[in-house]
Amino acid sequence: MEILVCVKRVPDTAENEFELNSAGNDLDRDDLVYSVNEWDNYAVEEAIQIVDKVGGNVTVVTVGDDESEEVLRREMAMGANDGVLLCDDAFEGSDGKGIAALLKAEVEKGNYDLIFTGAQADEGAGQVGGMLAAMLDLPYASLVNKIDASDGGTITVGREIEGGNQEMNEIELPCVISIQTGINEPRYVGIRGIRKVAKVEIPVKGASDLGIDGGSVGDAGAKTKRVDYFVPDLGDGAEMLEGSTEEIIEQLIEKLKAKGGL
Ligand SMILES: Cc1cc2nc3c(=O)[nH]c(=O)nc-3n(C[C@H](O)[C@H](O)[C@H](O)COP(=O)(O)OP(=O)(O)OC[C@H]3O[C@@H](n4cnc5c(N)ncnc54)[C@H](O)[C@@H]3O)c2cc1C
Repeated sequence: MEILVCVKRVPDTAENEFELNSAGNDLDRDDLVYSVNEWDNYAVEEAIQIVDKVGGNVTVVTVGDDESEEVLRREMAMGANDGVLLCDDAFEGSDGKGIAALLKAEVEKGNYDLIFTGAQADEGAGQVGGMLAAMLDLPYASLVNKIDASDGGTITVGREIEGGNQEMNEIELPCVISIQTGINEPRYVGIRGIRKVAKVEIPVKGASDLGIDGGSVGDAGAKTKRVDYFVPDLGDGAEMLEGSTEEIIEQLIEKLKAKGGL
């Protein structure tokens, strides 16, 4: 089974205090600590487990700047066999459609049975997986929380649906799957694993390698532009609890007790 997992480098919510940039249309991204998008980590773990069972190869790909290589190395330390970095000035400012178009071009360079994305990333649009499937004209299953793979031409995937119910679907390969958190327990990546892949060559592909017109992606090609980014007003009766997670829990318990809720 040849599996491509799309991974995104995102600001680590546990490690950063977020502030808006001066234009007010994005986070101030200077000096943030980054990590791999949580959903994508589950996707890589699932891909490794499938390959352990039926054989094959796991490749991780990201669209990003040269620092994004670190998330590829992390996922290779976890057990992915190969990494590819899609990086070009022309890719900067891509919207979800642009990202999907770049990933499509990379998918078409390979011979993949399964393409995994996370169900969503930090910006929460949950759009790249579905768009990628549509662009590739491949079947798609979203929010997948269970996979039963054999080496046949289909796999069985489970999806969590409203009310805690579960459905199972058989889906023909090749296909695109978006992975939900909780599908597995991603393995720990130790410093030894990181060292092992520290010097592995990771190919970097730009617009011409992918056969993409740079003007169709990036800022130039984005048909969706973010025009504002803000924390909404609290509204009447709302209160933000401040402090560490433990302090917030303490305060919440006290408030619930005071209101007779506990
Ligand atoms: C400087 C900057 C400028 C931006 N400008 C715009 C803009 O003008 N318009 C706009 O709409 N958006 C813009 N964005 C947002 C950016 O394009 C989003 O990353 C993209 O739209 C994907 O959205 P998402 O995070 O909600 O991904 P989702 O669709 O929620 O992600 C789902 C899955 O898709 C895959 N995926 C997502 N992104 C990547 C990636 N980079 N590489 C590999 N796999 C990926 C992952 O598997 C992920 O789990 C900008 C971002 C930055 C940092």
